[in-house]
Amino acid sequence: MTSAAASPDMLRRLVGFDTTSAKSNRALIDWVRDYLAGHGVAATLVPNEAGTKANLYASIGPAVAGGIVLSGHTDVVPVDGQPWNTDPWTLTEKDGRLYGRGSCDMKGFVACVLAAVPRLRAARLKVPVHFAFSYDEEVGCLGAHSLAERLMGSVPRPRAVIIGEPTMMGTVRGHKGQNSYQVVLTGFEAHSSMTHLGVSAVHFAGELIHFINGLQDELAARATDNGYMPPFGTMNVGTLSGGTAGNILARECTLIWEYRQVPGDDADEARRRVQAHIDDALLPAMLRRHAAARIEMTPRFVVPAFRGEERGEAEQLARAWSGSNDSTMVAYATEAGIFQQTGISTVVCGPGDIAQAHQPNEFVLTSQLAACDAFLDRMIEWAERG
Ligand SMILES: [Zn+2]
Repeated sequence: MTSAAASPDMLRRLVGFDTTSAKSNRALIDWVRDYLAGHGVAATLVPNEAGTKANLYASIGPAVAGGIVLSGHTDVVPVDGQPWNTDPWTLTEKDGRLYGRGSCDMKGFVACVLAAVPRLRAARLKVPVHFAFSYDEEVGCLGAHSLAERLMGSVPRPRAVIIGEPTMMGTVRGHKGQNSYQVVLTGFEAHSSMTHLGVSAVHFAGELIHFINGLQDELAARATDNGYMPPFGTMNVGTLSGGTAGNILARECTLIWEYRQVPGDDADEARRRVQAHIDDALLPAMLRRHAAARIEMTPRFVVPAFRGEERGEAEQLARAWSGSNDSTMVAYATEAGIFQQTGISTVVCGPGDIAQAHQPNEFVLTSQLAACDAFLDRMIEWAERG
């Protein structure tokens, strides 16, 4: 079987849809649904509550157990403020590179999968191949939870899940989790010369960040030889906003922080420790200054860690189809942990380099798309043998 040269053309189509996570992905999803229908493949959409976004899943081949799930997200990160040399929504080829937002992360993989549809339809598959395309991966893997649940509830038990995030077609068998929280501190305004009359939310946000810094040092001191870089759980305060003027005690301050745990570590530890510090120290100290003080911490999202087994079924299949000799662990989060929670062997393997993801002038090498096409051809040959 020879690879179709269609995956760059398919990628051009997909990149043309601005599916920044803050926007709807429906135009892309509807186009994919129509494309699949044109090849006689029925797709199911799993919309979000508002109906503004949707996951899509579809199957090709017999409705039997032992199939392969090919998973990709359809959203991309924003281009705002980034110095692009080309239009990020027009795939542009130069020197063996295809430039465009999402070309690497991860419409490249989705394009290869969709370009393989005619080959999949022509093949005599003994086990099915399932597509699982999600929304809102880049803002906390929001779509994948309902997608994994619906897909696994409606098809006979698959054998393996391949998450096509960029790995240069190497195989990744583990990644850290990600737990994101928002904290809103409410103080009481006063003239900044009258500090005894109010309490500043900004000052106490500083205390909270100081505590998080200490916790971060404690986590770093627990480093073990676990294959991750860095080899310990990490914390980050990503945004902080508060106050309205230099001469007012700030009424409100909001911060977003996260904890990325190594698989096997307690994903909830950082949240518990921060909550205990708020309850036992920060809030009482604020209340001593003014009775109106409040601190609310709410979870934003949880991406479970992914702990693939060495020599697991998905890893072995992906290594056979990609020709890679080894598998590694990475720090960035993907939807792999969510699919793994359904009990199916999972691996991350896809075209492009994560170093190009989220960057201005994001690109994927045409040779990487060709490598992914060849990977899918070997998968199809395997599925024909059954
Ligand atoms: Zn991605």
